Amino acid sequence: MANDQEKDRKNSQEEPGKKPKESSSPSPIWLLLLLLVGGIAAYYFLHFEGETMLYSEFKTALRQGKIQRVFIGESAITGELKRTNEKKEPIRFTTPKINDPQLLQELEAQQIQYSGKDGHSWIANFVTWGLILLIGVMILLLLFRWVGPGSSVMAFGKSRARFYEEDEIKISFNDVAGIDEAKEELMEIIEFLKKPEKFTSLGGKIPKGALLVGPPGTGKTLLAKAVAGEAGVPFLSISGSAFVELFVGVGASRVRDLFSQAESKAPCIIFIDELDALGKSRGMGAMGGHDEREQTLNQLLVEMDGFDSRHGVIIMAATNRPEILDQALLRPGRFDRQIFVDRPDILGREQILEVHAKDVKLAEGVDMKTIAARTPGFVGADLANVINEAALLAARRDKQAVDMSDMEEAIDRVVAGLEKKSRVMTKKEKEITAYHEAGHALAATFLPNATPVHKVSIIPRGFALGITMFLPTEERYVMTKSELLDRIGSMLGGRIAEELIFQEITNGARDDLMRATDIARMMVKEYGMSDTLGLVTFESNYSSFLEGYGYNDAQHSDQTAYQIDVEVKRIMDETYVRVRVILQEHLDLLNALAQVLLEKEVIEREEFDQIIGKTTSSALLET
Ligand code: ADP
Ligand code: MG
Ligand code: ZN
Repeated sequence: MANDQEKDRKNSQEEPGKKPKESSSPSPIWLLLLLLVGGIAAYYFLHFEGETMLYSEFKTALRQGKIQRVFIGESAITGELKRTNEKKEPIRFTTPKINDPQLLQELEAQQIQYSGKDGHSWIANFVTWGLILLIGVMILLLLFRWVGPGSSVMAFGKSRARFYEEDEIKISFNDVAGIDEAKEELMEIIEFLKKPEKFTSLGGKIPKGALLVGPPGTGKTLLAKAVAGEAGVPFLSISGSAFVELFVGVGASRVRDLFSQAESKAPCIIFIDELDALGKSRGMGAMGGHDEREQTLNQLLVEMDGFDSRHGVIIMAATNRPEILDQALLRPGRFDRQIFVDRPDILGREQILEVHAKDVKLAEGVDMKTIAARTPGFVGADLANVINEAALLAARRDKQAVDMSDMEEAIDRVVAGLEKKSRVMTKKEKEITAYHEAGHALAATFLPNATPVHKVSIIPRGFALGITMFLPTEERYVMTKSELLDRIGSMLGGRIAEELIFQEITNGARDDLMRATDIARMMVKEYGMSDTLGLVTFESNYSSFLEGYGYNDAQHSDQTAYQIDVEVKRIMDETYVRVRVILQEHLDLLNALAQVLLEKEVIEREEFDQIIGKTTSSALLET
């Protein structure tokens, strides 16, 4: 909702109670004018040498005795003509100097006063130096304005947080749809902000910080504002990049300022958007260590440790690149709560569409469910974009209301935009992808312990060319060894199908292979599911944050490492053979599935079961 952002920007103040900064510093336009006047003056003084004469004219005048006096300069000769009338000012002239050895003799002969001259008059020098000084001052002033918020050097260290009073935020949880789990997790924080005393009197421990993690456009920023809106507390919002400055120490003092501001406003929320700009793992700077950023990050860590959340300040942050964050930020007592804001599912998309359609006049027959079904992979921002595009299209066509055809076209446009960002498939790629996904689906169907297929699609999403979704969609926490093996099998299905049909393999299975290998490795190293290595866990301590990131160094010998590798390879190889046999047996089904995919791009579960001629997959779900 671009409108809201506009409104927020207007309402916000840098520092309540302070003069607007514009009045305290000379505006660049004023300076420019001054410069112009100075320039003209300088030009006038430098060039007021009178009329320009040809050298020959000068010589003629000399011989005719019309010249009063002459100044011989480096490159020009200036002088005065004799007055024709006593009252008049002498007429000045200038002429270029040429090599004329006779000139001095002639001047002597005519008894004309002459002298040398060094460059410019003192006044011209004065103006020139004044001008240089002026330009310097102006550049400095512009630099200050660009670097700092205020007009003076003292304001550098002030945080550039945008401050919203408690009644300024009109965003509530009703404006955020489709991410109910994240909302639920934030409820506790809202409760606390509403009544901090209630919690503290019981001695309960309050989370200091909540980190919203998720892909761009899923509504993290929106959610943070909604928390402030729901709790009715002030909201201090700042982007992580605002801390990263040219001058060492500025960022750190901004952090200090931010926290002291927050403390005076408590209960309130500090929100650091795009935390990764500031919180990049230390020593990761590409340009040879960024001391300034490190200092700023350290200051943030110090401030987070130093203050007591019982005062009623909650720090929220958002990032879409959690993997590059400095681990220190995620320790207990800092951003100890991570909330995952994922892409919405079909129901979520429907709800988000409904939120954004509230302000749009819809024609009969516009069905959000259908639109939601057509927009897999879209995030909240994309969906808001669809509604907006549709409204624009309808307006351009002079319609009274937005109808389904506008919506359809809007989806196509947004998809085209997204495709540009990722890539568009060629026909050959599409064919390979169809077989690849069909391979996943078939493997999952005929492996006894694999999760049944929910949907197969070859519509590209992000970098993935296709996707096969399984039921149930939520992650399961307890899985048996045979289930894990069959999951590896389903992942290998795509690659094996490519091999069987095209007698060639592509790099498209990289992600599958990586994930399959990960599972195999975890079975061996962590779950104690390998017969040769037995009941041992070789992982000591891995960060529970976003599974898969931040493993510690392995705690085992090289010998064991070798054994682990052998075991992982054995699991992969055996599963590979098993799945290859299955797919070979069902080549006809593989072809049939791929053909339907090429035609329709998506196969939903019912149709999938029909093609397989099998009704057991729904029964499997029950068990
Ligand atoms: P992020 O911070 O995760 O990149 P934003 O919060 O900036 O995403 O979302 C951009 C816009 O997309 C929001 O202003 C809102 O209009 C829309 N949007 C995103 N997610 C949702 C959602 N879950 N519900 C409603 N609108 C959403
Ligand atoms: Mg954002
Ligand atoms: Zn795959």
